[in-house]
Amino acid sequence: MKKKNTILFLGISSIIILIAAQVLIIKGIIKTTSEMLPLRYRSLSIEARETIRGSRSVDPFDTVKFLLNQYSTIVAFELPEITDEQELTEKKKEILEYFSGVLIMEEDFSNFLSAYYESQGFEKDFNHRIEIQNLDIISQDTFHIYRNENFRDRRTRGRGGLDSPEREARSSVFTFGYQEEGNYYSLNFRYIIDFSDKRKLILQESATSLVMSIFSIVVVVLLFMVTYRNLMEEQRLSNLKTDFINNMTHELKTPLATITVAGKTLEMEMIRRDESRVLETAKLIGKQSIHLNQLINMILEISMWERTQFQLDKKPVDVGEVMNDIVSSFKSGPGSIASLNQKYNFNDAKADIDLIYFTTMINNLLTNAVKYSDKEPVINVEGFADDKNIFIKVADNGIGISKLDQKHVFDKFYRASGGNIHKYKGLGLGLYYVKKIAVEHGGDVTVSSKPGKGSIFTVNIPYK
Ligand code: ADP
Repeated sequence: MKKKNTILFLGISSIIILIAAQVLIIKGIIKTTSEMLPLRYRSLSIEARETIRGSRSVDPFDTVKFLLNQYSTIVAFELPEITDEQELTEKKKEILEYFSGVLIMEEDFSNFLSAYYESQGFEKDFNHRIEIQNLDIISQDTFHIYRNENFRDRRTRGRGGLDSPEREARSSVFTFGYQEEGNYYSLNFRYIIDFSDKRKLILQESATSLVMSIFSIVVVVLLFMVTYRNLMEEQRLSNLKTDFINNMTHELKTPLATITVAGKTLEMEMIRRDESRVLETAKLIGKQSIHLNQLINMILEISMWERTQFQLDKKPVDVGEVMNDIVSSFKSGPGSIASLNQKYNFNDAKADIDLIYFTTMINNLLTNAVKYSDKEPVINVEGFADDKNIFIKVADNGIGISKLDQKHVFDKFYRASGGNIHKYKGLGLGLYYVKKIAVEHGGDVTVSSKPGKGSIFTVNIPYK
């Protein structure tokens, strides 16, 4: 029990440690991926922009430039005419809105970028926005339409420069700064890519590691469960074996003790003078020797069954006739019972059966039906066939078997754990062999029982 708890404790602890380690690893991977992601898309974006620059025919802002040029030509003449401050502010607002609208609606850069990402095997869906940094309309005077407070004039950095990489890496927002000079306007704006579903992207990128981690945890948990179950099963078997040895010793000791006592009795002169008592004691010794011999033979037989493979010598037999023979000779054998009824309806089924093993199987069931009885046993043996199988039912009115024991009665060395374990002698092998023989014949055996009411064992064997 202590060992079992230690193993359980160690196993569960190591699984928890493993899960914790995996969580840390995954967290690390997600962190690295989320740091790498903006950098990766940034370098892709640079490549994309270089491609645009390299190709003379493509300028994704052509339409924008055309429209803004036209519009600024008009407003450049309108603005100097406006004297009213209020009206001027309104006009500037209108100009800013127009510029923003045209930039958003008419640029073709996003489509290009998206196609480029896709061609490189990356996520093509992203959000973007365009932020105007500075807008001047230039006529006789320069009209400052809008100026972002953070705007730094980057004329020195040239057209389309990038923001500082550090800032972008941190924010996962990548920007291109653009400067456009039209005939009547000067415009600076930032094109901003924003992966709002960045988590989805990161998950996609770390999916392989995530799946592998989960898989390894599942495998380890399964492995632990299987190992633990095997260990428990081994322990159970070892306990059963110990019980078996105890039972066997007990079984052997009983006739041996009787023989010893009988021997001592014969040593007494008083007994020796009484011929009838000598005969009686000699008979007792003979009977117990036979019993001892039977027990030893049984043990030898068991070990032989264990060592050699089951070699069935099957022959087609009339099941009805065979059953009749087995049950009748059991009925008239030692310890014969009055109430053993049989009823067969096998439809003359002929099954391939090894007669010796089959007889052992039925005898084991009948012996148990008599043995596990606390009153005058009434046993009903019934047989019938369907179109594929023959069925043999052995029903008794004995002590019955609890639900829990029913699960194990066919296990090797298993003996039901009720208080009767010493009252009914046995080694826990009878039903194990019943099952083995039934299975070797291609069939099976089942039990249904109610404690105190009796048990029904049903053997089925295919015959077609
Ligand atoms: P054994 O009889 O040597 O103990 P078996 O393998 O024949 O071994 O039976 C296993 C256990 O199943 C028995 O210990 C007994 O508790 C239970 N059992 C078997 N047959 C019957 C029955 N007919 N009625 C009640 N209990 C039974």
